Amino acid sequence: MINLILFGPPGSGKGTQATKLIEKYGLLHISTGDLFRYEMGNNTPLGLEAKSFMEKGELVPDTVTIGMLKNKVDANPDVSGYIFDGFPRTVPQAEALDLLLQEKGHAISALIALHVDDEEIVKRILTRGVSSGRADDNDEAIIRKRINVYKSETSQVFDFYDKTGKSKSINGIGSIDEIFENISGLIDALSIAENN
Ligand code: AMP
Repeated sequence: MINLILFGPPGSGKGTQATKLIEKYGLLHISTGDLFRYEMGNNTPLGLEAKSFMEKGELVPDTVTIGMLKNKVDANPDVSGYIFDGFPRTVPQAEALDLLLQEKGHAISALIALHVDDEEIVKRILTRGVSSGRADDNDEAIIRKRINVYKSETSQVFDFYDKTGKSKSINGIGSIDEIFENISGLIDALSIAENN
């Protein structure tokens, strides 16, 4: 089983790459941002709780996020692996994920971090905002807040998996296909290592 974390700041291309990766490797894509937006769209209690944090560019509390993630993983046991996108965003989330997978006899294979500089991120997200309609994509102050939250609360997750040699870095600037080739190269190397 290959279980990947697609990591990087908002707008670094995680969702775009995840869509291509699930096609190639047959993995289940779990994006906590998408799950929250689905709940919000249906006005569920979970969606209403998440909304206030998302609109401000802040993280939804760990207990809420971890509970939702766990439900999604538990509901999809028969997969050849998972691509986690936008999760974990804090060290407690990473610890909870490791425990959840461990209970099932699995583990994270690698964290793949996409590196993109701040000004490129702001440009990309404002462009995405035109079609995504997301409130948090259409306000530069909120976008900068999300980048700061990534630096202050999320970047430590890279170091967390780096301790066990699982964190890998990829340049997130370039063509979508070029970046996809680089990520695929990493995954193929992992698969070969797993099969030996
Ligand atoms: P995303 O689509 O991944 O950029 O996420 C959009 C927003 O959803 C974030 O700015 C957070 O408010 C919330 N969110 C998504 N994933 C998480 C997570 N793992 N932990 C906390 N909040 C999250």
